[in-house]
Amino acid sequence: MPGQTETTTHLAVTDSSAAASSLAAPRKGTTAKCIFTVDVEDWFHILDVPSTPPMSQWDSLPSLVEKNFRKLLDIFAEKDVRVTCFFLGWVAEKFPHLVREAVRQGHEIASHGYAHRLVYELTPQEFLEDALRSKRVLEDLAGRPVLGYRSSGFSVTERTPWFFEKLMEAGYGYDSSVFPARREHGGFEGARFAPYRVTDGENALIEFPVTVEKVLGKPLCFFGGGYLRLFPYFLIRRMTSRVLEEGRPVIFYVHPREVDPLHPRLPMGAVRRFKSYVNLDTTEKKIRRLTSEFEVTTFESFIRGNPEAFRN
Ligand SMILES: [Zn+2]
Repeated sequence: MPGQTETTTHLAVTDSSAAASSLAAPRKGTTAKCIFTVDVEDWFHILDVPSTPPMSQWDSLPSLVEKNFRKLLDIFAEKDVRVTCFFLGWVAEKFPHLVREAVRQGHEIASHGYAHRLVYELTPQEFLEDALRSKRVLEDLAGRPVLGYRSSGFSVTERTPWFFEKLMEAGYGYDSSVFPARREHGGFEGARFAPYRVTDGENALIEFPVTVEKVLGKPLCFFGGGYLRLFPYFLIRRMTSRVLEEGRPVIFYVHPREVDPLHPRLPMGAVRRFKSYVNLDTTEKKIRRLTSEFEVTTFESFIRGNPEAFRN
């Protein structure tokens, strides 16, 4: 029914929302931590360019996700850190041993959906089916509940007011898909920065917006994807410290292709090409430095470490 969802979802990303309660910020310097995440997908899963191959072609393309994800696992093992791995369901089905290996090494398995479709291009029912399908695949492989979700391309917008409701219906406990700034696909300008709780009165989940920090009054991301590649390390470090001092966790996100500067390129226009491939050779070094200089953890253990903040 049209009026039914109003109290839950689309209101919940702004500060004026009555439905989303702000979480108590962790006390300075005590529990605040960085959360390190990987969106486990292949080099051809770049979104929203005409050359992005449809799912029917994925099987025939040379895959590099295994090699590159293993490289990331090696870095995490070397630095002795545990991270959250948002697996694409399709990748997990094709390379089930990667999920098992990540579990064996103590990482958290979470879902990046099954088919890497933009949320705002799906009907609520299609989205629900995709979110459920990836959850089932991953839980079967991991042998434990999968609580976390991240949408492809952070594609949650005003056009998807049903998003949280469907995620709760699919049984997820937290999400990290809201991008609280202007962005190519997705982006929620004016959304709150700190993690918050979303409820429909019956079910609840925790939203961890992608970390942004205001620079000259504008929210900017420094902590993942093209942003992490573009900005110099000293700036990323300074912004990380600033967010932590404000009592918010910093959420880093990387893709396996980003530690492989020589991976094949999809044809695309100059601007997108810059965003997709700039400074690829800096990512590995930045990951090594960040995981050495900051305390990083998984979403699961961050939530476990802040029980008072996430209770009703
Ligand atoms: Zn993705």
